[in-house]
Amino acid sequence: DTVLQIDGVRKHYKQGDNILSILNGADFTLRKGETVALVAPSGAGKSTLLHVAGLLEHPDAGEVFVNGRASSGLSDDARTAMRRSDIGFVYQFHHLLPEFTALENVMMPQMIAGLSQIAASERARQLLDYMRIGHRAEHRPAELSGGEQQRVAIARSVSNAPLVLLADEPTGNLDPGTAGYVFEALEALVRQSGLSALIATHNHEIASLMDRRVTIEDGQVVEG
Ligand code: ADP
Ligand code: ADP
Repeated sequence: DTVLQIDGVRKHYKQGDNILSILNGADFTLRKGETVALVAPSGAGKSTLLHVAGLLEHPDAGEVFVNGRASSGLSDDARTAMRRSDIGFVYQFHHLLPEFTALENVMMPQMIAGLSQIAASERARQLLDYMRIGHRAEHRPAELSGGEQQRVAIARSVSNAPLVLLADEPTGNLDPGTAGYVFEALEALVRQSGLSALIATHNHEIASLMDRRVTIEDGQVVEG
């Protein structure tokens, strides 16, 4: 029951005359319902791995399978469709649209996917409630605290019911108390929806709540 499989992925960047080999034949498997913490030092390649896994960046070599389907041979449109239907992504910074309310931000991906306004709004309210932020649904991002903004961003990331949630230090900008609270809500949401999640974090308390822990060593994903 594998929802995400990374197979022999290589990725390098050029920095001036240097070639940085970040992923060097990385393999990783995420099973249905599993939550995995990705804990590695800054610069190890966590964001790179998440971006490749989330079909946001092309690997130089190797393959990413999402729900058993290879992504490399797809057209850009097909890959985008796959990403929109199967993958939710949360960043360290929320990237909410400032001119829209929390509710509208969570409705947006569903409206783009073709849901009716009523259906999108009902689901958005439910997700905001799960993230314990339903009472702020009518507020715009600037009226929300950092922790509240991030709870809205998490609700939005799963609004199209993806199979896989990828999160890049989702609580990295928050103070420890707020981070714990936001992460608890995130974890409850993931478990409730039977989602699988790969979450990069520096927070060891957060990592200990996940089923499994991996790290990146010499460009490979290893149990950590
Ligand atoms: P982490 O998320 O673990 O901090 P990243 O995946 O962001 O690591 O980055 C790994 C390395 O690759 C870093 O040294 C970073 O500077 C470099 N890097 C990341 N993206 C690029 C890019 N677009 N161009 C050049 N170098 C990059
Ligand atoms: P969090 O722990 O969620 O980050 P804070 O301690 O930053 O929350 O804020 C506590 C409460 O103050 C929030 O739940 C919110 O109701 C309110 N609040 C914070 N920032 C703002 C703001 N810019 N405008 C209106 N209300 C705010």
